Formats: sequence, structure tokens, C-alpha cells
Amino acid sequence: MIEELQHRIEQLRAQMRPLEPDGGAREALGHGALSHALAYLDQVPDAPSNRPWGEVFAHRLDPEFPEEGRDPAAVLDYIATCVDRPGFATTSPRFMAYIPGGGLFHSALGDLLAAVSNKYSGFASASPGAVRLENATTAWLAGVIGYPEGAAGTLTSGGSLANLTAIVAARDARDSDGGGAVYTTRFAHHCVDKALHIAGRGRAPRRQIATDARYRMSVEALEEALERDRAEGIRPWLVVASAGTIDSGAVDPLADIAHLCRRHGVWLHVDGAYGGLFALCPEGRETLTGIELADSVALDPHKTLFLPYGTGAVLVRNGRHLLESFSASADYIRPLGESEVGPSPADLSPELTRHFRALRLWLPLQMAGVAAFRAAQAEKLSLARYFHARLQEMDGFDAGPPPDLSVVAFRFRPQSGDPDAFNERLLRHLVEEGRVMLSGTRIDGRFTLRCAILSFRTHLEHVDDALEALARGVARVQERA
Ligand SMILES: *Cc1c(COP(=O)(O)O)cnc(C)c1O
Repeated sequence: MIEELQHRIEQLRAQMRPLEPDGGAREALGHGALSHALAYLDQVPDAPSNRPWGEVFAHRLDPEFPEEGRDPAAVLDYIATCVDRPGFATTSPRFMAYIPGGGLFHSALGDLLAAVSNKYSGFASASPGAVRLENATTAWLAGVIGYPEGAAGTLTSGGSLANLTAIVAARDARDSDGGGAVYTTRFAHHCVDKALHIAGRGRAPRRQIATDARYRMSVEALEEALERDRAEGIRPWLVVASAGTIDSGAVDPLADIAHLCRRHGVWLHVDGAYGGLFALCPEGRETLTGIELADSVALDPHKTLFLPYGTGAVLVRNGRHLLESFSASADYIRPLGESEVGPSPADLSPELTRHFRALRLWLPLQMAGVAAFRAAQAEKLSLARYFHARLQEMDGFDAGPPPDLSVVAFRFRPQSGDPDAFNERLLRHLVEEGRVMLSGTRIDGRFTLRCAILSFRTHLEHVDDALEALARGVARVQERA
């Protein structure tokens, strides 16, 4: 019996060998993957910012999930043709749609190292070095925002989960029995609705607060709404303000809103997924004055610190609230709580086992230095102002309000015909041309174009490219009309 088992075990061990490549095989696999990545990056500067979908099916792997492993080169080829090429090139310097970020190479190396050592970053006891680094990174983010000692935070998969985490903390701290009212503008990101729904507050009384001509929350309108609710016996619970709306990059008057919220005992959450981290550079810091007074802030290092997708962050001014909502213990986990490296990430977030996310943020800050990030952000803010100024000089464009941050929301005003249809055709032309990628939105029913400048790779010549593509596009759409 035992001998039979031993024989079977040896057989299985031989069969599973492809999962344990030896040193030489690891080196070959590693070189193959690194060459692939470097070749990809070499073509980024000149490649289109958008490519046809048909390329997804340029090759097929048959069967897709083979019993025996494939030649690694064939697998990388498949990825190059059918994954790397088709669709949006979010790494392109000419990608200015949605909210770009670019994807820092240093972060990719951080991911590789984190995955190779596979440190367990959920608990301080399992990996004190990794947890210290996570806590140092969230403390650094809290410092960027201007939070005092006592703040806590955690790295999430993105901004949506950061907003959700904050809203759960706000619920537990200030709306445990429900019934409290929520205040946003019509420009709040849809993930706020999702978060309220998931947090069991989807039916909370909602007030849509009016905005000024630059799409920022009106403090007077907010004050009226808060007072009206109180007069009617409805308890104001949560204000969600924006540090950079998705539509136009507008930053609400955060300091005034924060003072109002304090007076009324309302939790102020700032959705800074796009704009909050501009607080790192002096120009952005000024626009964001007051963000440090918010009870919680959602951030997205995969936008404004240029990381590859997969890293958001939530910060709570009084860190106790985050711990109260998310710390948990179980018998199979050693007693938790504070340690000399700080709290364990698993006590500050709904997650238990997680990717060691901090390394992809910490590593580029070490290797490139903070000053480079600060300069890149300031460059993007200036590029947006440059784009806006140049657009004002171009015939027929309504450049829209001056950008608070790095998104410009603008329209072409055709001399005749439906302006919405014209701008939609203009955008479609740009997307099909594939040189410069912009995006569109509807603001108060009007189709509006957006140029979002945030990739670390986007520089002056690329913004000039965008202006030229727009001029070319207008001529083409007019020709076809
Ligand atoms: C991007 C964004 C979100 C959502 O963040 P994800 O990282 O996409 O989940 C929320 N709010 C704002 C303002 C954003 O820009």
C-alpha cells in the first residue's frame, strides 16, 4: 500500500514538473517575457492610440487550454497580436480619453517582485516588512493630502472600491440606523451610487446640489438643502464632493463645503479618484485647498500617480473609523491589532489575502524620486491650460471653462446643423483615425468632447498632435456634411 502510493506520488511529481522550472528554464522564461515587454514599450511612442477589434481574432489557440504546455514564444506571440495590439493603447502618449495614467514601468517591476516573493501583506505577523511598507505608503499618501497624525488608509484595487470603503466607514460612523440624507452634484461618479447601493443605503434620501458655471458644487445650494432637511426632520448624513469630476475635472470648493459639513455634523467624503493626488504639486495643492478637512478621501494612484491599473487608495481622517468598520479576527489568525509596523491591512479593508500592492507604488517613488512625480503632475496641469488656450484661438471651438486640473471639456460650434451630431461625428472620426484618442460625455444633455491629459508620457508635441487632429477632423466632418 505505502509502496504503491510512493510510486504514484513519484509519477505525479514527474508530471507536474512544468510548474517548477529550474534556474535555467526560469532565466529563459524571464528573458522571453522581458524582451516581449521591452519590444512593446519600444513601439509605444509611434503606435496608434486605438486599433481595430478584429485583431483579437487574428490568431486562435486551439485548443485554448492545452493538456501539454505550449512553446512560450508562441504564447507571447499570441499576446502580442491578439491582446497587446487591439483596442485602446492606454500606454500611448496620445491617449487622452477617459482618465489615462500610462502605467509606469517601475511599477511593473514592483509587481514582478511582489509576485515572485509572494509576501503575505494582509498581516503584520506574516510579513512585517511588506506591511511596514504598505503603512509607510498610505502614510505618505495621507501626508500628500495633508491629513494629521491619526489618519489611516488602505490600498484598494481602484477608485470604486476606495469610494465604497469610505462610504461604509461613513455609514458605520454616522448612519448606523439609516435614514440619513446624501448630498452630491449631478457630476458625482456613478460608482458613488453603486457604493451606496452595496452599503445598503441605495434608498437614502438623495439631494442633487446645483453647480456654478464651472460645474462646481454651489455652497449656498448645499447650505439651503442641509437646512431644509433639518427643518423637515431629515438628518443630513453624507456629502460626497468632487476633487476633479470625470466630466470636466471640476474641483468643488472643498474648504467651504468642509466647514459647512462640520457645522452640520455631516460626514464629508471627497471623491478624489481623478484629482486628489494633484495635491502633490504646489499648483494642484492650491486648487485642492480644504481636501485635508474631509472625513475621508478616495484616491487613484493608477490615475494621478501613473501606476498600471489596479491601485486605488482610501484615507480616513480619523483612522479609528476604518478600523471599526473593517477589523475582524478569526481563530485561525493570530491576535491582531497594532504592532510596531502599524496596523495590518486586513484590519482596514474588506479584503483578507491580497496582492502586495504597495510595492508597485513604493518602488517608482524610490527609483524615480518624488520630485519627478511632482514635475509630471505640474506639466500635465500646464499642458491642459495650453490646450485650452490654443483651442480658444481655433476657429469655431467653444473651449469651455478654464480647466481646474487636467481635463478640458469643449465643443465645436458648427455654423449650421445639430452641434451634438457634429461633435459626435468629430469624435468618431478621431477614434477611427486612431492617432489621438479623446472621449466624449453629455453635460446637461449636450454632447461635449473631453481631452484628459494625464499620462506621464504625454508632452507638448502630443498635445499639439491633438490640436492638429481636431483641426483635421473638423475639416473632414464638414466635407462629409
Ligand atoms: C476613475 C474614477 C472613479 C472610479 O475609479 P476606478 O479606479 O475606475 O474604480 C471614481 N471617481 C472618479 C472621480 C474617477 O475619476
